Amino acid sequence: MGASSYNKVQASDAAAIEAIVGPRNVIFSDSERLEPFSHDETAEKRYASMPELVARPASTAEISKIMAYASSRKIPVTPRGAGSGLSGGCVPVFGGIVLLVDRMNAILEVDLENLMVVAQPGVVTNAINEALKKHGLWFAGYPMSLETCFLGGNVAENAGGGKAVKYGVTSRYVVGLEAVLASGEVIRLGGKLRKDVTGYDLLHLLVGSEGTLAVITEVTLSLMPIPRKKAVLLAPFAGPAEAIAAVPRIIREARIVPTSIEYMDRASILASCGYLNESIPYGEAGAMLLLEVEAESGDELFANYSAIGGVCEAAGAQRVYVADNRTTMERIWNVRRNIAEALKVRSPRQSIEDVVVPTAAIPAFMEGLFALAGEEEVEIPCYGHAGDGNLHATVVKPLAWSEEDWDERLHRILERLYRLTDSLGGRISGEHGIGNKRKEFIGINLDAATIALMRGIKGVFDPAGILNPGKIFPD
Ligand SMILES: Cc1cc2nc3c(=O)[nH]c(=O)nc-3n(C[C@H](O)[C@H](O)[C@H](O)COP(=O)(O)OP(=O)(O)OC[C@H]3O[C@@H](n4cnc5c(N)ncnc54)[C@H](O)[C@@H]3O)c2cc1C
Repeated sequence: MGASSYNKVQASDAAAIEAIVGPRNVIFSDSERLEPFSHDETAEKRYASMPELVARPASTAEISKIMAYASSRKIPVTPRGAGSGLSGGCVPVFGGIVLLVDRMNAILEVDLENLMVVAQPGVVTNAINEALKKHGLWFAGYPMSLETCFLGGNVAENAGGGKAVKYGVTSRYVVGLEAVLASGEVIRLGGKLRKDVTGYDLLHLLVGSEGTLAVITEVTLSLMPIPRKKAVLLAPFAGPAEAIAAVPRIIREARIVPTSIEYMDRASILASCGYLNESIPYGEAGAMLLLEVEAESGDELFANYSAIGGVCEAAGAQRVYVADNRTTMERIWNVRRNIAEALKVRSPRQSIEDVVVPTAAIPAFMEGLFALAGEEEVEIPCYGHAGDGNLHATVVKPLAWSEEDWDERLHRILERLYRLTDSLGGRISGEHGIGNKRKEFIGINLDAATIALMRGIKGVFDPAGILNPGKIFPD
């Protein structure tokens, strides 16, 4: 389907939406106020597209009415959370309505008997853990963008962050969903259940569906107890090859699953420290692993980090620095969390990737990446969730390249990067999703029969194709 398959939003449509959500909660024919909803955090402008109307519903009932109306008028609707996405997922490719869920931001219930939380999609992810802290509980599947992103966006992207090596990603914790279909019908899937095999697992089909199958209006998450003690280790290595080679040895030889095994190359560390005006121990290292370890007592913590530190040193770490006080741990994590932002400030023309390979293939991936960067004469700083095989290779535009050069060469570099990943048994996206940024490349990973099956599923959920069109599938 293309832009011509849809109707434009008319003044009469805007009036109908205003009647549902109230005039104060609609933006229409005001390009200055519409512009912020034309993009997410994907740096390249080519993925941006203006909405015709932004609606801010306050309830499931209002979303249901908007969807029914948009279906009847054949107007595209793109759900939007905080807009922190990195694949253009909430960008309204064919204009139409952006459905902003920021007013649906309540934590509806903290259920201490079942160890579950029920929340609306517009809750900032960190607010959930802040609310749970006093109960000694947390939602462990959150992404690194937790201070800005919304829960609905996490579910729609099946986000995963720096603790996935031990705790897994969002889908592990989603046990119940309420969602509105393109037709306006409201469905409820799962519930406060730890097991449920009643029919097809539609719940987990919606998790990671990037807003293309239904609008998520309520989420039930299962919770974990907050570990009593934790420590952060920094292990500097001579270079990337040495650091990456240590990763599989850590779990195998220490026989402990760290909460996090994060990798940072030299360019990423220097950029983030410079951006934050911060310094961390061994900040000049060729490459570094950041590991987080948990335990229930001080003695157990000491034993755990000593075992992991010992393996790192045996694997070639020059030193191992241990931080076990909150301030230092937070300073170190802050450097890791701000790498993306720091690289963006250094060069706004860049492409953050989130390819994923089997962990054993990381050394081969890094070798391929260095060769690719050398052949293409481009800088590709790399950092990320080494414990998951999920790496943020970031292609940065060299100053000398013209805009035309960049457009043409970036396409070729991405295609080569994705093919390298595929050749190692990996995928082009481990957490940021396909959106409109990677849709032309999905065929590198998925065969035609699989893509046809996915299109069929999309057609069953959304026969008129009005829900977040122009995403996931190649044009
Ligand atoms: C600095 C930085 C760090 C990041 N770190 C991580 C990380 O560690 N791990 C990770 O996985 N991601 C990370 N991200 C990417 C991003 O934050 C996540 O994808 C996040 O889950 C998006 O949430 P959002 O509310 O911003 O969603 P948006 O960007 O608004 O939307 C994302 C997608 O979800 C859909 N959507 C949003 N709300 C709904 C809803 N209620 N119903 C149906 N569909 C909906 C949209 O249509 C879109 O397709 C990072 C981004 C930045 C900028």
